[in-house]
Amino acid sequence: MNKTTTLHADGSREVATEAQLGRASEKPNHEAAAAAVRTLIRWAGDDPDREGLVDTPARVLRAYEEFFSGYAIDPVAYLQRTFEETDGYDEMVVLRDIRIESHCEHHIVPIIGTAHVAYLPDRRVVGISKLARVVDAYARRLQIQEKMTAQIANTINQVLMPRGVAVVIEAYHQCMTTRGVHKSEVAMVTSQMIGAFRHNPTTRREFLAVIGKSGG
Ligand SMILES: [Zn+2]
Repeated sequence: MNKTTTLHADGSREVATEAQLGRASEKPNHEAAAAAVRTLIRWAGDDPDREGLVDTPARVLRAYEEFFSGYAIDPVAYLQRTFEETDGYDEMVVLRDIRIESHCEHHIVPIIGTAHVAYLPDRRVVGISKLARVVDAYARRLQIQEKMTAQIANTINQVLMPRGVAVVIEAYHQCMTTRGVHKSEVAMVTSQMIGAFRHNPTTRREFLAVIGKSGG
């Protein structure tokens, strides 16, 4: 049974199973989901029974399992194994250029971009691949970029309890590039700075320099 950990702003944690969230009983089965894809194909104006489209609903469902695999992942669990033998290392740890593949929750089209994640350890450090997995866990859901940025930063902050966390995401939203206003070169940049990254301009500048942004 999948468990979901919700971190609240006051630092408290709530662990609920899918059943407690009411999701298990609400989740449609494969046939119902495939029928919904057929309906959308018909709604778009095509024939779901023609040769090229007949296997499309099944393919779409497999793609959705990948796109939205983050719902089954508990990001808090990734960060729970930490290392304290750091020989006094107390400088920032920066993971730069993590590819983001997400989907906008308003149009269910891709958000593609890059995340930069940093923290200032307080004795405990975490394996760097775990930070990238936390990014993936939140990206592989229906998202808005602002919320995803905050979720990544808040989770790292509340689980690792470092002296500071910084997350910057730069991304292109296909709902802007391929529809609507059709602005293909517009990147959206969001950032969440916590602790030393928010209060200490030197720390913030150092981080921005490492990720190739001019420090403000
Ligand atoms: Zn959108």
